[in-house]
Order: sequence, then C-alpha cells, then structure tokens
Amino acid sequence: MRRHVLLCLLLGVLSATTLGALVPVDGAAQVIKSGPPTCPGVALTFDLCPVRKGSGYDQPLMDYLIKHRIPATFFMSGKWMTKHEPEVDHLLRLGFFEVGTHGEVHAHLPMHDADEQRTEILGPVKLLQEHYARKATLFRPPYGEYNDLTVAVVNMLGLRFIQWNIESGDPDPTLSSEQILSGVATRAKPGSIIVFHANGKGKQTRQVIEQLISDILPRKGLQPMTVSELLNCKPRAHD
Ligand SMILES: [Zn+2]
Repeated sequence: MRRHVLLCLLLGVLSATTLGALVPVDGAAQVIKSGPPTCPGVALTFDLCPVRKGSGYDQPLMDYLIKHRIPATFFMSGKWMTKHEPEVDHLLRLGFFEVGTHGEVHAHLPMHDADEQRTEILGPVKLLQEHYARKATLFRPPYGEYNDLTVAVVNMLGLRFIQWNIESGDPDPTLSSEQILSGVATRAKPGSIIVFHANGKGKQTRQVIEQLISDILPRKGLQPMTVSELLNCKPRAHD
C-alpha cells in the first residue's frame, strides 16, 4: 500500500492533463514478455542501443534479415537514431520490419524520478513522430530495467511495454555461437519473444540468427513474426 501511495505522489510531478489518463497500474499485466502460447511463432527482437565504439550497426546481420525478408522488431534508442539516420530510414521502409523505441540515452530508468523517466522514454518516440512521421507504440526499457513508476509512465503514454522471455546473451564476448544457439534453441517455444542486438555488440548474432532461421525454428514448427504479429498471432503465408 505504501508503495502505491509513493507511486501516486511521484506521479504528481506529471502534468494534470496526462494524469487524467492514469489508470490503476497492475505491473505484471502491463509488461509483455511473450505472446500467446498457442501461436506457432516467435518474435526475434533486436535492440539498437547506442555504442561508444564501432559503427553501431551490424551490417552482415541486417543484410541477412533483409535478403531473406525475415520479420523482426527493432527497439531504437534516440541517441542511436540521431547517429544513424539513413539506417532508420531504411528500417522504416521495409514492411516486414517493425520498430519500437528504447529510451533516449539508454538510462537506468529505476534511478530516475517520474519526470526524468518520461523524458527518457519520450525522446525517440517524439523523434520518430516529428522527423519520420511514424507513430511507434512499442517500448523496451534500456537494460530491461524498470520499476512500478516506469510501468505507470509507459502506460500513461499509451505505449506497449515489451520485454522478453528468452535472453540470447548475444553481447557476451565469452559465449560462442554454439552456446548462444543452444541456449535459445532449447528454450524457444510458441509465443517466445527473444532479445538480440543489431548494434554490432553481438559478434555471433548473425551466425546464430542464420541457424535459427534455416534450421532450428523450422524444425520446431515456429515461424518468425514481428512483436505485433505475435501478440495478434497472425502467421504469414509463406511466400
Ligand atoms: Zn539496450
């Protein structure tokens, strides 16, 4: 109860107009970690977190996804977007891709108050609207970190809070592609949302994705879908 009171007090810093839209928050129900377990699909999701070194764009991985028209969902941070305008343009033009956002500067959200969390979350949402005329409603918190306040703010902004139920661990330099693949392969099941990176942090990501697409997923009777397709469970006809 005390937690709820604190949350309401913290939310008081948000404007009266947005507060009007606030509904009681049930954190567990609001945070989406998977799709329907009856759906013969999985969502391959790729975070585009800002990087200090390197291009920040996994070209071989993207070439593979594009060549094979693999449905995938990208969570772009605002800082990444400002450094990759042509790539953002390209992603948005491809109908088999879906985009969501991933905070402005990749902040640790639980360390911030409601107003700061709102600013961090809204950065790339506004950028997409203002520069690309695109409304992106999917949101994934940086580092997957959040608290009750994050859930409330995301809910109030009308965004869908997308986590995952399978962490590939692809940025871990100590993991081989076989280790990453077997970890994902044993856990992948109908409705899974799997997190990878497309910012070049995952040295094995392309290889793992190729194996998943060409071998593991077909053997399990699972097809890749975007997050929205998975949540609505609309398998695509094979082309
Ligand atoms: Zn990230």
